[in-house]
This record gives sequence, structure tokens and C-alpha cells, in this order.
Amino acid sequence: MMEQKQFQAESKRMLDLMIHSIYTHKEIFLRELISNASDAIDKLYFRSMNEEGGGKNRDEYYIELRPDKEKRTLTIIDNGIGMTAEELEQNLGVIAHSGSLSFKTENTLDENTDIIGQFGVGFYSAFMVAKRVTVRTKAYGADTAYIWQSEGVDGYTIDTCDKSSVGTEIELELLDDTDDEKYSEFLEEFRIRQLVKKYSDYIRFPIRMEVSREKLKEGSESEYETHIEVETLNSMTPMWKKNKNELTDEDYNNFYRDKFFDYSGAPLLHIHNRSEGTVTYNSLLYIPAKAPFDYYSKDYEKGLQLFASGVMIMEKCPDLLPDHFSFVRGLVDSEDLSLNISREMLQHDRQLKLIAKSLEKSIKNELIKLLKTDRDKYIEFWKAFGIQIKFGIYNEFGQHKELLQDLLMFHSSGCDTPEGYTTLAEYVTRMREDQKYIYYAAGETVTRCAGLPAAELVRDKGYEVLYLTDSVDEFAIQMLQKYQDKEFKNISAGDLGLESDEDKTALDEKNAAAKDLLAEMEKALEGKVKAVRLSNRLKSHAVCLSSDGDLSLEMEKVLNTMPTGRKVQAERVLELNPEHPVFAKLESLLNDDKEKLAQYAELLYQQALLIEGLPVEDPVALSKMICDLMV
Ligand code: ADP
Ligand code: MG
Repeated sequence: MMEQKQFQAESKRMLDLMIHSIYTHKEIFLRELISNASDAIDKLYFRSMNEEGGGKNRDEYYIELRPDKEKRTLTIIDNGIGMTAEELEQNLGVIAHSGSLSFKTENTLDENTDIIGQFGVGFYSAFMVAKRVTVRTKAYGADTAYIWQSEGVDGYTIDTCDKSSVGTEIELELLDDTDDEKYSEFLEEFRIRQLVKKYSDYIRFPIRMEVSREKLKEGSESEYETHIEVETLNSMTPMWKKNKNELTDEDYNNFYRDKFFDYSGAPLLHIHNRSEGTVTYNSLLYIPAKAPFDYYSKDYEKGLQLFASGVMIMEKCPDLLPDHFSFVRGLVDSEDLSLNISREMLQHDRQLKLIAKSLEKSIKNELIKLLKTDRDKYIEFWKAFGIQIKFGIYNEFGQHKELLQDLLMFHSSGCDTPEGYTTLAEYVTRMREDQKYIYYAAGETVTRCAGLPAAELVRDKGYEVLYLTDSVDEFAIQMLQKYQDKEFKNISAGDLGLESDEDKTALDEKNAAAKDLLAEMEKALEGKVKAVRLSNRLKSHAVCLSSDGDLSLEMEKVLNTMPTGRKVQAERVLELNPEHPVFAKLESLLNDDKEKLAQYAELLYQQALLIEGLPVEDPVALSKMICDLMV
């Protein structure tokens, strides 16, 4: 007896929603139906293992895809557990009822079963591409087979049918092609193959399809004929579920290359973890050897591939990676996530947040390990992605600085070569007993930093100077403020803490004695510098510029190259070396020739700008001034 049945009211609304909004890509219907087939096989396998003499060997189970271009149908066949009439009614008649979820809660499953379904909506995604869905099924241990048919919201029919083998066949009669949507693509071999690879490659039973192959005719060297062959489309074992000790570096590297299409070379590092606890997941992460060409542009999208029980649910999930580790590639597979979860839901998912937190920790730990065990490789990493780590310290008001500070590396006067790097921890171990600060110089290159007038003095004291050559460096350092309780000190700013109290008093006295001279020079440089002072910062140089306040000269330079249109200026101080012959000359000019003194003040200021790598205001005027002095 055949009878038209209505979907339950909620189901109707849900079905409508389903078809029009839950899924953004129609193509996922295949993933859903294959996952259901896999679940059905898992259930039968589980059952038969727990029953004497029942069931098949594991390798006899399969899923088959059968496209038929003439009939415009795609059929998904499995030899899984099948459904009774009641089950058909329950599972396919009531949307949001998941037979698989019940199965999971009613049975204690072992690692051989991996049931995917739990939401009870996936099946209906078939209506995104099909005008009619026909299910023929015979349950394990049943005598009668049933046919279920539906054209969508109007309801469904159930009847008996002929089917000798246990399992389920789901036949989709595809919708007619429109200008926008070509449903017939789902009948094409290459498209089906592509979808299986993309979403269902790691389903643990073979997904088979008849494919046509051109082969040389027997005995002929040039004539081809078409062979029909059954091919398994999926690779079945997810690499990340294998045991680490079964895998070689080569396995990891090949997988990386094929999965992420990075042919530029082996990755620097792979991180393969299984985590059990509040959330269970497998992760396989890679750190590439080189930054992708678009890495430092806004086109670059961070993210990891996300799988739920081996089925791909998201190509690039950005929430799994913090910005400071955005260079990491890889995937996460969790049994605790549902297949039918939307992007919006994922963003708020607690499990996902826990996973992201623990991945962040493990990436950091692996990098620290690399730093300790293979420094050359770490430096390679640092050259490719160090800037991102430094931005990570500076961004979001420094909330990640604790996590990231031990990853930092800088050039330094303490390194054997100008290309060498030191970590902050290493710097601290080299600090002198009487050394209060971690000194740094900022400039475009190591040579520039090392050549700064004040660097000479600090080095002569036996203190190491970090050379900050990236524009972000000083911002990151200022965000850190301290490392292991040692404050950072820019050698071009403020009091360097190098002088004894006697030195300071002596300098104060000299400043007082030169009061008139300094005032005269300040007048000449009005609007350009805040003050002119004598200083102990200088050794062989006559002058330098320093800054008062938080904004350093180097930061001024960086900020002014940014496209915000706003210009900032550090509070500049022109410092004079009282031991230098130029100073004596200035003193004599104060009495003899005030006009010349003003000129010299200007000249010294321009020189100090040049030394700092700052632009001189008027190069032509400067050049003229120098020429005037010569004649
Ligand atoms: P879910 O997979 O999340 O449970 P679906 O809407 O995909 O939800 O499927 C609903 C239910 O229909 C499944 O839980 C399962 O009990 C049943 N089912 C679907 N496809 C099959 C199949 N091929 N063989 C046996 N049962 C199936
Ligand atoms: Mg499902």
C-alpha cells in the first residue's frame, strides 16, 4: 500500500531553510550522502563484530557512486546496515532526527568505528541538487526492502520494493540546468572525483566508481580503446591519524606538498599531535620554509583546514590560528565537531576555541625547541616570519608579549658577525654585573646602528647593544618595556645610566658654565630643537641628536613614512661633546662672532640629522653653507 505522507511541520520549515540557507555550496550534498553511507557501514561492521558469525570482513564494505547521464541521475550505494520501514520514517521523515546520534549514545564504540552524523539534517541537502530523491533500502536481518521517495517539501511515500542485498541506494534525479547552475556537472567523472578528493578523501571505506580509461589496443602501438574500470577514488587513511613512528620526514613533506601545493621546498617543521582531554583532536601543522609571495599583503588569508571525523568541513578556518602564527599551514580533525556546522556557529564554538588555544601553545613550544636544537633552521624561520612575531608583540596592546618574547631575535654588538642574531635571554646571560639596562640602537642597518655616536660609549663600557633594524622593532621593544625585569634603553634617548654621580655633577657644572653659549645656540635653532646641551654620551664625535620623551627619533621616522598623512616629531635635543675641539671653537665664537656661531649651530644640527639618518630640511642651503665655509 502506498500512501503520501507529510513531513512534520517543523520539518517542512527546516527543509526549506536547509535548501536555501544552511549550506553555501550545493556541492556538499555528496559529502553528506557519502558520510551517511560510511556511518551505515560502520554501524553494520560494529554490529557484526559483536554478533557471532555475522557480517562481512572489513574489506568487503564499500560505497559506490553511479552517475547516469541518460537518466540524469546520480546514485550513492552502500552495503551498510540499511533501514527498516520504521527507521525510514524516523530518520528521513523527521528532519533533525539523527539515527546516527542515537546509535552513538546507545553503543560503546571503539576506535574502529567513527560515526560522523549527529545532526539529522545532512540527508536533506540532497534536495539542493535533486528534484526527486529515491531511497531503496534493506535493513540488516530484515526480509523486506523498502522504497522511500520524495520531491521535497510536499512529503514522501514509502512502499515495499525488490532489493536482495542489505544496504541502501540513494538515487538523485538532478534538477534541470539553469543559466546560473549546471547541475549536470555532478554527473561528470572529473567533478565527482574532485568532490570526493576534496571532502571525503579520508572516509575509511572505499568510494568506488566506474571510470573510463583510454588504453592501447592489445597488440597495437597507436590505436586506443576505451576500458571501463572500477576505481577507488579516496585514499582512505588520513595521514594525521597514523602513528608518528610509522611516518618518515619524507611522508610528511610529500603530504605537505600535495595538500598545500607548495612546491617551493620542504617545510621547516611539522607538528603532529593527538590531543585527548576536554576536546579530542588530531592536528598536523607545518611551518613553511619561505613566506608565500602574498604573505605580507592583505590578500593573504590565514587558517587551517578543518575536519570533523575525517570529513572536510572548512577549507580555511581562520579562528584556529592567532595572527602572530598566521604563517602556519595544516589541518585539524576533531570528533567533537559536527559536520553540519556553519561558519557563524564555528566562530562561537567553545571546542574550537579550546583547540585554537592548545595549538597556539604547541606551535610556540615547537619553535622554542627548534631554537634550541637547530639554530640555523630557526634563523631561517626568523628571516621568513620574524616580522610577524614582532607585530604580534606590538598588536592588541601587547597582550601576547609573554607568549612571544622568547621567540625574538635581534642583531647585536654581542654577535660574532653583523649577520648574527641573539635572543633576549642570551643577551641577559651576557650582561655585566653592574649593567642596569638592555641597550639598543635603532636604525636601517647594523652599520648604521653601530655607527651611532652613543653606541661607541656604551660598547666601550663593555655593554652589549642590540641593533634594531626593522621598523617595527622599537615599537615591539617599547611594548615589552622589560625583559626578565631588565628595562630596555634606547642609546639615543635620555639618561643612559652610565655615569657616576661625580660625572653627573661635573657635567652639570659644565652646562652651567656654558649657559650663555647654549642659550645663543638654542636661539639660532629655535623651532628645530627643544634644547642644546653638553653631554657625556659622546666620545669621538662632536655632536649628536637625542630625544626627550617616549617618541624616539627612529620611531618618528617610521611613523612619518606611514600613509596616515599625520606628521609627528620627537622632542629633539642637540648634544655637544665638551671635550671636542669644535666645542672650544664655539666658545670663542660666542665673544667674537655671533653670526658665525648661529651658522655653526645650524651646521652642527644638520650633521646630527645626517648621522641619525633623518632627512636634512634643505640640502641646497646646507651645501651652500659648507661652500661658504670653504672660501
Ligand atoms: P545525521 O547523519 O546527522 O544523523 P542525516 O540527515 O544525514 O543526519 O541522516 C539522518 C539519519 O538517516 C541518519 O542518522 C541515519 O540513521 C539515516 N541514514 C541516512 N543515510 C543512511 C544510509 N545510507 N544508510 C542507513 N541509514 C541512513
Ligand atoms: Mg549525515
